[in-house]
Amino acid sequence: MTKVIVVGAGISGMAAGIYALQSGFHVTLLEQHTIPGGICTSWRRKGYLFEGSMHWLTGSDEKNPINRFWQEVGALSKDSPIYYRDPFISCQYKGQTACLYRNLEKLKAHLCDISPKDTPHILRFCKDVKSFTSMNVPINNIPGLKLKKKEKAASTLRALSKMLPMLLRIGSMGKVSVGEYLRQFSHPAIRLLFSQVTNDKYSAIALFFTMACFASGDGGYLEGGSLKMARNMAKRFEELGGNIRYGVKAEKVVTDKGRASGVFADGSFITADAVIIASDTLSAIDTLFETPIGEPWAEDMRKNTKPVNCTFVGLGVEADLSHIPSTVIYPLDKPITFAGKQLNSISINNYADYEGYAPEDCTALTMILEGEYDFWKAASSDGSYKQKKQELAEQVIARLEEKIPAAKGKFVVWDIATPLTYERYCGTYHGSWMTLMPPGNKLVSYPCKPENIEGLYFAGQRLQPPGGMPVALITGRQAAQYLCRDYDVVFQGNI
Ligand SMILES: Cc1cc2nc3c(=O)[nH]c(=O)nc-3n(C[C@H](O)[C@H](O)[C@H](O)COP(=O)(O)OP(=O)(O)OC[C@H]3O[C@@H](n4cnc5c(N)ncnc54)[C@H](O)[C@@H]3O)c2cc1C
Repeated sequence: MTKVIVVGAGISGMAAGIYALQSGFHVTLLEQHTIPGGICTSWRRKGYLFEGSMHWLTGSDEKNPINRFWQEVGALSKDSPIYYRDPFISCQYKGQTACLYRNLEKLKAHLCDISPKDTPHILRFCKDVKSFTSMNVPINNIPGLKLKKKEKAASTLRALSKMLPMLLRIGSMGKVSVGEYLRQFSHPAIRLLFSQVTNDKYSAIALFFTMACFASGDGGYLEGGSLKMARNMAKRFEELGGNIRYGVKAEKVVTDKGRASGVFADGSFITADAVIIASDTLSAIDTLFETPIGEPWAEDMRKNTKPVNCTFVGLGVEADLSHIPSTVIYPLDKPITFAGKQLNSISINNYADYEGYAPEDCTALTMILEGEYDFWKAASSDGSYKQKKQELAEQVIARLEEKIPAAKGKFVVWDIATPLTYERYCGTYHGSWMTLMPPGNKLVSYPCKPENIEGLYFAGQRLQPPGGMPVALITGRQAAQYLCRDYDVVFQGNI
């Protein structure tokens, strides 16, 4: 049997491993951590569960073509309970609450009511989002792949012709950032609301795609969250006969006469016929080989990648905060000072309505702030890391106590994960979990298979825009398809 080693049991590595097992390969997954999931994770502190990744999942809804793949890898099943938050985000501004509803008609009426002056922009925005809802980027099998049954390829041409009316709009939106696009709205609450949908440095296209995802009934949250989803996939992998070796860090991928021949890990050499690297590609091309990969695509990746990372704050509150919206933005009278910058608003995710996320009548809250890798790196070097975390937590708690009187004096747990935490646990470049899609840039994808090393494949969020869990899944599937094609094996999906 052909022996395959997959490096990394994140979403991409488990997807690659599951498809490879189903197609008849012998697969061992090496995972440096003690649990599956990589960045797709959640963790408990003193009874509070902090959701560290999934906020919305593209493909949670059966109408989205990606849903089928989530089911194939066991991440979701037909009866998986999914939460669809609505309003998705709220903003409390000077006594008013602006809400981001999923239904575009409701959203339009609500926002025009909040800011009649912005009506023309709101109408245009909702019209554009509506057009985006009909766009589903086709996910085709790789060319030349043997399949167990003839599948009808999604027609790229048909999809493109459907998208035609939007392509011109996309051209102009692609030139501006979310932040620049939002300047046309005069009402601060509307700007704040949309700025929370996606990073304001992203190309404005990202805002429309994400809004279209919500408006089309997708973008839900699996009950139990990220770690549950990762465990579902690990279970599927093991049921298929795969072996996950936890706590084993791959040190080097060995190549011999232009072919991957195995992996050095745990002080020994593990031979393999093929290796799939599903740890962060940007790190792997520099660290996992005797000589860093110098192929043109790898050079492009080094040059073009703008890593997105975060400082994650989890809070445990001994109070039932179910009267607070599930994601809410509060503009601040007194800013939070963090990494030499001033934060003038704060956005919290509130898990009060989610069963099992906190002890009874208590609430888990989370917050995602800018990563500030250099700030935390410097703090780690000069010994002030813990103190800086404490200072940040104290400021956040003080501001939230002003905004949420029911929480005053009731914060009993705080937990901060910095980019250094993600770097340590997941081995990603600067703790990054996504790549910025800035305005004006071509959307660049990278190959799952290098040009000059046989038996070597890549999978992971870094390989295709916009990144995130769906890209991890799709590239894992593609890496397994290249493996099948190279070994002249029939690729077996499951459904
Ligand atoms: C706060 C936050 C919110 C997010 N929200 C969303 C969201 O709402 N929707 C969405 O789609 N995405 C979201 N994401 C992003 C998403 O979680 C990631 O993009 C995705 O999980 C990446 O999966 P991956 O398999 O590509 O990589 P990873 O998760 O990085 O997996 C790589 C695995 O390789 C292991 N590894 C690394 N080096 C080695 C080695 N040398 N040897 C052995 N093992 C190794 C790591 O431990 C890890 O398990 C969010 C992320 C964060 C941090």
